Amino acid sequence: MSTTRKPDWLKMRPPSGREFAGIRETLRERNLHTVCEEANCPNLGKCWSGGAGTGDGEGGTATFMLMGDRCSRACNFCDVQTGGMEPLDPDEPANVADAVAEIGLDYVVLTSVDRDDLPDQGAGHFAETIREIKDRHPGILVEVLIPDFQGEERLVRKIIDAEPDVIAHNVETVERLQFPVRDRRAGYEQSLGVLEQVDRESDIYTKTSIMLGHGEYDHEVYQTLADCRERGVDVVTLGQYLRPSRDHLEVQRYDHPAKYETWRRVAEEELGFLYCASGPMVRSSYKAGELFVDAVLR
Ligand code: SF4
Ligand code: SF4
Repeated sequence: MSTTRKPDWLKMRPPSGREFAGIRETLRERNLHTVCEEANCPNLGKCWSGGAGTGDGEGGTATFMLMGDRCSRACNFCDVQTGGMEPLDPDEPANVADAVAEIGLDYVVLTSVDRDDLPDQGAGHFAETIREIKDRHPGILVEVLIPDFQGEERLVRKIIDAEPDVIAHNVETVERLQFPVRDRRAGYEQSLGVLEQVDRESDIYTKTSIMLGHGEYDHEVYQTLADCRERGVDVVTLGQYLRPSRDHLEVQRYDHPAKYETWRRVAEEELGFLYCASGPMVRSSYKAGELFVDAVLR
């Protein structure tokens, strides 16, 4: 399909319900941000309304965004605001740990804006948040979606040393389209290097995500999957790019859900990924806990 009109399968349910309101209130009280809200994620209603705290990975999921709601980079697909960086909130690691308990999550996803403005690009703060959660809630599974830290291995190592359960870093798109899709400071090889380092230096599961709809060819998607697998990536997600506003890149194509199912089979059966979440509405953290528990712990 090569139309830019949004197809029916991308119609989303607006967020509502008691769980949604409760989580929002908890976040506001602690001055915390989530990717779910900042990036206008299409799954917000579904993820936040999940029954929470069941201990089986099927609880509500929220992706906390650390270090503020403004990014030092400007990717052309992303709805997060650029510039005007604020100092870090030293209470944030403890606040996130409190919120995790209050909301009743059993699988938490942490990500952050990029903080190229800070001496350690925020790696220490990120690691402290992981430790704070793990110390207070030893049974909880923590997935982190980290920046590239400009490829600085000592910074990536700070995250590895905090021992999260999954370390994700997104290649976002195929090699040819890295720019214009991503900020010029990002890059295909740099991102693959981060994933490879995690695989080389730890037993932590690695994960990446690819958006479709920027005009990539099938052979490029296949190559990207193969490159990630070669660097030791365990889990991959594929989802449709949705244009946040007229200031962002146009959608070049909407693929039918059947195409996503084909990519899932290719990734799992041909290339050997542990699992692949693939569908138009899938995002990096989509059903992250449920799928991880199913694939790894059951
Ligand atoms: Fe939040 Fe991730 Fe769910 Fe989107 S898919 S609502 S970012 S937890
Ligand atoms: Fe968005 Fe790019 Fe910043 Fe990530 S690095 S928050 S994708 S602008």
